[in-house]
Amino acid sequence: MAVKFISYGANREVTGSNHLLEVDGTRILIDCGMFQGKRVIAEQKNREFLYDPTTIDTVVLTHGHCDHSCRLPYLAANGFKGNIYATPATRDIAGLIMSDTAHIQEKDAEWMRKKKIYGDKEPFQPLFGIKDVIKVLEQFITLNYHREFTVADSIKCTFFNAGHILGSAMPLFDIGGGRTIGFTGDLGRKGTPIIHDPEQLPSVDYLVCEATYGNRLHDPIEDACRQLCEVIRETVERGGKVIIPAFAVERTQDLIYYLHQLVNAKKLPKVEIYVDSPMAFNATSIFRVHQECFDESVREEFLIQDKNPFGFETLHYITNVSESKQLNEKKEPMIIISSSGMCEAGRILHHLKNNIEDPKNTVVIVGFMAEDTLGRKIVERQPEVKIFGQMYNLRARVKILNTFSAHADSNDIKEFVGKMDLKKLKKVFLVHGEDEELVKMKEHLLGIGVKAVEIVETAKEYQLY
Ligand SMILES: [Zn+2]
Repeated sequence: MAVKFISYGANREVTGSNHLLEVDGTRILIDCGMFQGKRVIAEQKNREFLYDPTTIDTVVLTHGHCDHSCRLPYLAANGFKGNIYATPATRDIAGLIMSDTAHIQEKDAEWMRKKKIYGDKEPFQPLFGIKDVIKVLEQFITLNYHREFTVADSIKCTFFNAGHILGSAMPLFDIGGGRTIGFTGDLGRKGTPIIHDPEQLPSVDYLVCEATYGNRLHDPIEDACRQLCEVIRETVERGGKVIIPAFAVERTQDLIYYLHQLVNAKKLPKVEIYVDSPMAFNATSIFRVHQECFDESVREEFLIQDKNPFGFETLHYITNVSESKQLNEKKEPMIIISSSGMCEAGRILHHLKNNIEDPKNTVVIVGFMAEDTLGRKIVERQPEVKIFGQMYNLRARVKILNTFSAHADSNDIKEFVGKMDLKKLKKVFLVHGEDEELVKMKEHLLGIGVKAVEIVETAKEYQLY
């Protein structure tokens, strides 16, 4: 039996997840995500597959985040004809995110054409369009957690719950003769609201493991609700507005869930809450139909008593532009949750522009802000920031809540791997992390007795059996 593992993305970086498992000539891709970051470099990496898409037999998708799913339409447009296996919630989330990305691509292409990034040679085309998204959605086959399915003759696969976002899964491949290979995808944290905690993956021979926070620890998750409550109360007492840039999928629903709890417990002052993002509205609708992904306490607490965990009296979803603009005219304290999460595009820019110069207001940061983004500049409390080409004084308060992370921290990963049978575990392959995190995670894992740990290099062939 010849079994190889080759990775084509998310090596020594956190975007572009794309791994290949080859078992006796059957070629299975695990994820096919987009590279993000500096525009021109990412664009080049996204456009070039380091393998021939027509040679891929099947894709197994861990979750719907763009950096794991969004090159699928491009893969299919380049000749991939096989099945794509995912959980039902992942299919829906991926569908939403791929469609949104198609629109962003279209806008980006326009920008590139205008700026003549690629000269006058030929009009710049987006990587894929909405038609490609619809086409690739026809290739999906959905299976819930713990329902074993056959990928090819002797290769079986089962999804375990990764607890990272709605529908996120860790595929476990059984290639016969007791040989098993596991992938963490993105591993979540225990105790996050709404979705199940990550499950323990059964012991495997080889594990491909993420290491986003290979050397960092998060604040305890129990503090999230209390910290959020505090900052809202203080701001409302000053007569200010709370502006929260948040990713439309998962982070926004987590916030709504916490706010709902605080409202029910009568801990919040009477204040209107606006979710100003059509994407967040659509994502929330997907959450509502995937109750199989919720943990028991949420089912009990909300579905039985309240019927809808994502709706309550003071919560308003805003989908049209004129309503969004009207928020600016309202002077009373309020909470506005809007995307994009890193303040790079979308309606959040209007809210920041209108509120960032008033010291009564607070910008609450609940997500990771990459370098060179407006979000990062706000986190760094730069005195002046540029929005829509104009400089604004950052006079509003900035509160950073580190408790909201969807990724396991270094202790969580150590514990997760440590619970496996380390005699059986031949090697851990580390992906999805920046250099320092990977090096430290390697040390941590060797420290708990893992026999071999490899920091994966792009396109390098690793022989497994
Ligand atoms: Zn993810």
